[in-house]
Amino acid sequence: LVELTHVEKHFGALHVLKDINLTVNKGEVLVVVGPSGSGKSTMCRTINRLETIDSGDIRIDGKTLPQEGRELANLRAEVGMVFQSFNLFANKTILENVTLAPIKVRHMDKTDAERLAMDLLARVGVDSQAAKMPSQLSGGQQQRVAIARALAMKPKVMLFDEPTSALDPEMVNEVLDVMVELAHEGMTMICVTHEMGFARKAADRIVFMADGRILEQSTPDEFFEHPKTERAKDFLSKIL
Ligand code: ATP
Ligand code: MG
Repeated sequence: LVELTHVEKHFGALHVLKDINLTVNKGEVLVVVGPSGSGKSTMCRTINRLETIDSGDIRIDGKTLPQEGRELANLRAEVGMVFQSFNLFANKTILENVTLAPIKVRHMDKTDAERLAMDLLARVGVDSQAAKMPSQLSGGQQQRVAIARALAMKPKVMLFDEPTSALDPEMVNEVLDVMVELAHEGMTMICVTHEMGFARKAADRIVFMADGRILEQSTPDEFFEHPKTERAKDFLSKIL
């Protein structure tokens, strides 16, 4: 469903992605881990063209991501993204936050979009907050709205970049629980996270990055019990 082949990316002199090859199958849940600065966020951002690449190829559902134009917009709409900061539209209600893109991009009519939004808000447990403004919600609630907003576009794949690292500790699990549920429902997911409990519970595969390269790809059991590289052993010794 998502295929990166020989992807290279520089920021000026900095070589941030080095020969990245990654295939994500439909329904698979990938957890991407690695030290700070290893290129995890950059890799995620290339998948919906928030970052361009220097060379290589990124395919979504068999179609190469073009540089621009309608085809790019169409493919991007298939990729939902949830960031560390919640990025809700501050001057719109929770309901409007979720209905905006389906109405504008998917040309859904307002009644249908609102029905869909309320279903999704209920799924993430914040439907009672629909009329409020983002600032009136807790961080955990806002992040669940951000997930509902991404799902409203009916994406084929969801990207999560440290969705819980800006949250107070007591709110982390309410967001992770929603992600675990999504995973169990068969959503294709690429998650950058330091939450190793989530990784063990939900991941089909762990992708370990260091210095812009993918050094290991293995099941959670293999990765946590028998990391193959010194870099991964060192990384795990610091976080576990
Ligand atoms: P973290 O765990 O801290 O989030 P990361 O693995 O997500 O790290 P990236 O954010 O992908 O790492 O950054 C990889 C490298 O690219 C870092 O050295 C970072 O400073 C650099 N970098 C990221 N974005 C830019 C940018 N827009 N311009 C220049 N350098 C950048
Ligand atoms: Mg990052």
